[in-house]
Amino acid sequence: MTINKSNKLVVLYASQTGNAEWIAKSINQEAVQRGFKSECYVTDDYEQADLEHTKVLIVVAANTGDGDPPENAIKFFRYLRKIKSKTFLSHCQFAILGLGDTNYTNFNNTAKRIEKKFLELGGRPFYDKGLADDASGLETVVEPWISNLWVALEKVCERTSTATTQTISTNDFSMKAMPTKNKDTNTTKETTIENVVANNNASTPTDDTNATRMNHAVSSTTATTVTTSTSATATTLIIKETTLNEETANNLTIMSTDDTSSVTTFTAALSITTPKLFSLGTPLTIDLSTLSTITQLTAIPRIPSSICRTTFHSTCKHTSKFLPPSFISTPSPIFQAYLSAATLLTDPDAVKRTLQIELEVDEEEKDTVTFLPGDAFGVIAPNDDGLVRGLLNRLGIGEDEMHKEVEIQSIDVAKHGDLPSHLKEAKSTSLYELLRYGLDLTSLIRKPLLRMLAECAVDAEEKKTLLFLCSKQGLGQFTALRNQLPTVLDVLATFPSCQPPFDRLLDVLLPLQPRYYSAINSLLAHPRSMHFAFNVVEFTNEFDVSKRGVCTPWLDELSGKVTERGVRVEINKDERVAIPLFLKPNTHEFNVPSDLKRNIIMIGPGTGVAPFLGFLQHRECQLKILYETMESIANVNRKDIGDIDHNGVDTNGTDHGDIEHKKTQSISSSYGESWLFYGCRDKSKDFLYKNEIEGYLSRGILGRLSVAVSREPGAGENGKPKYVQDLIKIHAKEVYEMIYDKDAVVFVCGDAKGMAKAVNDTLAAILSEYNGISHADALKQLLKWTDEKKYLLDLW
Ligand code: NAP
Repeated sequence: MTINKSNKLVVLYASQTGNAEWIAKSINQEAVQRGFKSECYVTDDYEQADLEHTKVLIVVAANTGDGDPPENAIKFFRYLRKIKSKTFLSHCQFAILGLGDTNYTNFNNTAKRIEKKFLELGGRPFYDKGLADDASGLETVVEPWISNLWVALEKVCERTSTATTQTISTNDFSMKAMPTKNKDTNTTKETTIENVVANNNASTPTDDTNATRMNHAVSSTTATTVTTSTSATATTLIIKETTLNEETANNLTIMSTDDTSSVTTFTAALSITTPKLFSLGTPLTIDLSTLSTITQLTAIPRIPSSICRTTFHSTCKHTSKFLPPSFISTPSPIFQAYLSAATLLTDPDAVKRTLQIELEVDEEEKDTVTFLPGDAFGVIAPNDDGLVRGLLNRLGIGEDEMHKEVEIQSIDVAKHGDLPSHLKEAKSTSLYELLRYGLDLTSLIRKPLLRMLAECAVDAEEKKTLLFLCSKQGLGQFTALRNQLPTVLDVLATFPSCQPPFDRLLDVLLPLQPRYYSAINSLLAHPRSMHFAFNVVEFTNEFDVSKRGVCTPWLDELSGKVTERGVRVEINKDERVAIPLFLKPNTHEFNVPSDLKRNIIMIGPGTGVAPFLGFLQHRECQLKILYETMESIANVNRKDIGDIDHNGVDTNGTDHGDIEHKKTQSISSSYGESWLFYGCRDKSKDFLYKNEIEGYLSRGILGRLSVAVSREPGAGENGKPKYVQDLIKIHAKEVYEMIYDKDAVVFVCGDAKGMAKAVNDTLAAILSEYNGISHADALKQLLKWTDEKKYLLDLW
């Protein structure tokens, strides 16, 4: 069937962290700049997208958990599921780009599911799907996929206007536009770096050995160096060795995918103030030894479009110390709970420091807190104050300015696209608040940031290094840079001549994400409380630079960094701080079964055991309630029983010891079997909740416990178990019988990358052996059980 070219393109995104949204909007912007009529929507806004009439569709889909659709695609999936017509999308040609991670079992499941459904509904792909893999770097797939998309798109979609002619920013002083080849369809252009080194008065090569390594350090070093200092930051740039052979530099050609006229304007550094406490950032180590041998840089991404504009108001914006700003959007309403107690769960010598935190709401607010074990809490944690102030200071924004009321607007919706969703409601905020709560400053850096900074670099060496890091040739160095886990401030400290306007950071940084923790308590036991546990993320990277998470060190500090293991430290009522959080019900029904008789197998090493603590506490309370109900029924039925003697016999001659025994028997017979597989490194140091778990075992709430200890001598050797999956293998027959004959539900909680995959494979091997089916069929059976809620996964 021939279909006339469409005159319109729709780009949809299903995004969890903002990355898929960013990519989809970039595709949309580039499409518009190339002369296509294009619109961009989040998948859940499918009504606006008008799929029934859309002829050309591009979907960018991320994943959450182990291949689950992001929250903003749940409605879309429900909508698609209901459509049964096999011709519903027969008018539509589509292309799908998935953002996934091969460390997870269901790699790029969201993109694959969308593709399958689109095909079932009669849609036809016009371009091969791209499945990007975070394990090897999303860019390696995303960038070529987008570069080659335009040629494919030309065949199915008409341009409604002439593409914008290519221009290069005049600020891009070291680059010269070369004639564009094949103007209409070509996705690349050539530019030449001219006299890069010659223009660079500040950085003169001092050593022309091959071992070219660029190291910008705040402190001076003994190496022969060339130093430049920037007044804005008082940071010293030290180039230890040659960064580029002059002759090569003059001939260096940059193959870029830029095709836009996005011109970055540079604002002069604003007045610098010196707040008392702020971070300077740690310059990064970059190995530039290969750069001197490279004559061409290819596949440099486009300069990110300028989208955001900050408008200042005359008023000041007070930032509450603990209340997040109103522009933050969450899946359920944010409320505050007081940090009331903390317990250190691990030995000070343990590999990880694990903390239990207890939050409490006031009595009158207890009805707002409704959750079941298996649900999670989303904590809204701010970026570190020192980092935020340091970054603002580095950008030249003084103390007064950072607290002025501002509003974020789109520069030009028609031309550059709409604001990113996380900034849409940023109407009355401040620059400080935006950095503290709105933007991710610490997660893995992305090329768009470096590409944007390359446009801001005044120093030619820095510009060249930034372009190299963005290029195909610099992929290894980019990965190495990313593995140092730099903050945005660290990146700026490495490139001191870059002074990006604040708005440009808004254009390229992704939203700060809430941090999720599983409930370890049951409301039946603690009606106003929310208990959860986590490993405190603080470590040093390969260059001995301290790194820290956002939420866990913050909560650790707020609770006074408790030091004594196993001692519950209550926080004085007048010293309690309020923590903003929201409730996140489990979307997979990974909750404690309401039926006490249901047999359960729980698999959760490390903090993956968290929800099962809640399960057991809940079951014990259910049992108690049942017991109390029986007791009150018995009391109603009981006539005057008179005094009970020391043998438990009343004046009517009834033996109450016997009654108690019978009651306990009847209660436990109404209670299903349960088996917990737990894993730790060293039983004496990090067996989380050992006493509690053994208590449940001794009281019969937990039927069976199997613990794998991974760092015991001989663990994993000669058949000695190391991990939970090894224990499951050892008990294969009983596990099989419990699942098959006793219809147990299997719950797996924890790390999706290693553990869950291995457990899945082990269960498949057991099914394969005992059912006499192939491994592939066993895997299918497990998937079916997931659908039937018999095999439930809560993976992180
Ligand atoms: P962990 O301390 O890193 O590890 C616990 C045990 O698992 C160790 O003995 C470890 O052994 C072992 N292990 C390592 N690789 C494994 C593999 N491939 N298969 C099976 N076992 C393996 O655990 P954790 O950091 O607490 O991690 C638990 C996971 O659960 C995290 O992903 C966390 O985000 C998630 N989670 C957290 C919560 C929460 O509320 N905080 C709730 C649910 C799940 P070795 O290190 O000796 O190799």
